[in-house]
Amino acid sequence: MSTIEERLYNIKKQINEAEKKAGRKENSVKLLAVSKFHPAEAVIEAYNAGQLEFGENRVQEACSKFSEVYKNTTGVRLHIIGQLQTNKVKKAVETASMIESVDRLSLIQEIEKQAAKLNKTIQILFEFHTGEESKSGYESYELLRESVAYCAEGNAPHVEPKGFMTMAPFTEDKEKIRSSFVQMRETAEKLQKEFPDLSLSELSMGMSGDFEIAIQEGSTEVRIGTAIFGERIYN
Ligand SMILES: *Cc1c(COP(=O)(O)O)cnc(C)c1O
Repeated sequence: MSTIEERLYNIKKQINEAEKKAGRKENSVKLLAVSKFHPAEAVIEAYNAGQLEFGENRVQEACSKFSEVYKNTTGVRLHIIGQLQTNKVKKAVETASMIESVDRLSLIQEIEKQAAKLNKTIQILFEFHTGEESKSGYESYELLRESVAYCAEGNAPHVEPKGFMTMAPFTEDKEKIRSSFVQMRETAEKLQKEFPDLSLSELSMGMSGDFEIAIQEGSTEVRIGTAIFGERIYN
């Protein structure tokens, strides 16, 4: 049995090796530790091993867990990475630093409304649908572009776009996975060029099974759960 600290160390080593192999700068890829279904104690254990950025996909679970975590830590940042219902935005904005799973214009408008009330700026990533098997994210380039343009025009001053997120299809086919990441990177480059006043440099792509390919294709953040915290127990 290995500890969370040992597994974190191993993952970081693998990320560093993948950066090197891809000709990327050392530590250009951030690690988001996905703690869903694991208790506050596990998050605090990872924190004690130096981890500050965590991902959760359900707002309810994240809020109760991180109210505990925040009491016992400093500098922890929570990212929401799961599909977000409009009626959960208020809680998400209260608890998180970033929402990575922005997938519709109406969600941006609600985030703006809630963030303005709290006088808080919240970072977002636009989630783009690139893999046929996954269901989340903007379904088309036109819809994605409309939301990016909306932010670029200054309509959501409490929302700070930082880049994009995608999930590769769940498949063993490495070329399918790669082409999903390539599609994301090329889309990001195109939108960055069209909207130079936004800083859209973050690319959240890559999970436990596919982060090496993601790093080769330009990922700046990999989202890893199981390889750090162990198998999730669903009940
Ligand atoms: C759960 C989850 C992850 C982490 O998955 P693992 O396979 O446990 O590494 C990454 N991204 C998203 C959006 C997730 O929901």
